[in-house]
Amino acid sequence: MDENLKRFIEYVKIDTQSNDKAGTTPSTEKQKDLSRLLVKQLKELDLTDAYLDEFGVVYAHLKGEGDRIGLNAHVDTALEVTGKGVNPRLVEKYDGENIKLSEKYTLEVKQFPHMKEHIGHDLIVTDGNTLLGADDKAGIAIIMGALAFLKAHPEIKHKNISVAFTPDEEIGEGPLHFDLKKMDADYAFTIDGSYIDTIENENYNALGVHLKAHGVAVHPGEGTNTLINAFLLLSEVIDNLPSNETPYYAKEDGGYWHVNDVNGNNEICSLSMILRDFSKEGIQRRKELIVEAVNKVNAKYPTAHVDVEIKEQYENMKQFVDKDPRPCALAEKALKENGITPKYKKIKGGTDGATFSKMGLVTPNLGTGSYNHHGRYEFLDVQEFNKMIDVVISLVRID
Ligand SMILES: [Zn+2]
Repeated sequence: MDENLKRFIEYVKIDTQSNDKAGTTPSTEKQKDLSRLLVKQLKELDLTDAYLDEFGVVYAHLKGEGDRIGLNAHVDTALEVTGKGVNPRLVEKYDGENIKLSEKYTLEVKQFPHMKEHIGHDLIVTDGNTLLGADDKAGIAIIMGALAFLKAHPEIKHKNISVAFTPDEEIGEGPLHFDLKKMDADYAFTIDGSYIDTIENENYNALGVHLKAHGVAVHPGEGTNTLINAFLLLSEVIDNLPSNETPYYAKEDGGYWHVNDVNGNNEICSLSMILRDFSKEGIQRRKELIVEAVNKVNAKYPTAHVDVEIKEQYENMKQFVDKDPRPCALAEKALKENGITPKYKKIKGGTDGATFSKMGLVTPNLGTGSYNHHGRYEFLDVQEFNKMIDVVISLVRID
């Protein structure tokens, strides 16, 4: 097995799952197990200033010439499936058939038809008990692979390179303590996607909505004209939203409203919802629909009340990326140099790069050659992974 793949395997075996209930940064101490290893390895690769800061972010720099290019990947893994005891398996020269992961789980072509695109390639799969964690340890290993190549080839001229490995991306807190000064880059890339021909320069605008209904609780036998059920208040709010705008009906480039949590009793009941839309006008309209629906219900029941709180989660990076054409132009050039025809795609979600872009560091996203993230069916295409190391080398090299 080559050094690059060995590094990937080494990283996925370290449990770095984040935790959205912790309230600390990083959300889990175990993420630092990988971060500390990365600091050690970065130093060995001549990024001598590598360090782990108090918020669990690894920063490191490699002096070169010209632009200061940033490279970022996240150390944590998703919450849906455990990342403890990852037992990766190499499937050589994939034949296009189903891959049995364990007695219970099989990676089925019928369920994941895109597997056919990887015929003839070597795949790394799970044993069905965990996720793989290629999201985003493939991104980390790709960056480390490119740096290892530069160390082995001191004759190659390259840009000034700034590396950051961040915690807690999966819980949306990666950028919370991200320090642009410590990063010290002109523009950057997250290496955190799937398809390697894809440059992701656009993502959702995202709002989080919290509704809290205060009903009027009395004995139901004496409820006439008095009892107001908090559940039903929320249900009336929902009834006033367009029923064909949920994720089930969402179009390829459309948004949605989605209820993800309801909690309470007939007197007090809370509901959490997310709103997603690519356009500014669209997300504004969705926000107004909620406020109107709540106002309508509040007007109907003067003795009860629904509170509404709406918070921004992240913003579409397109508006920021469009102001600095350098990173996307560079990515296009690097992909073409490696025989790949670049495509642009909107991310139906967010990335740390969206928030970095808003903070002032324009950061589109590139692929890793890993697929089916956040679950036990996750896999890595080894040839695509290696190709991305070449792409990153092209990004940083000066010819
Ligand atoms: Zn990721």
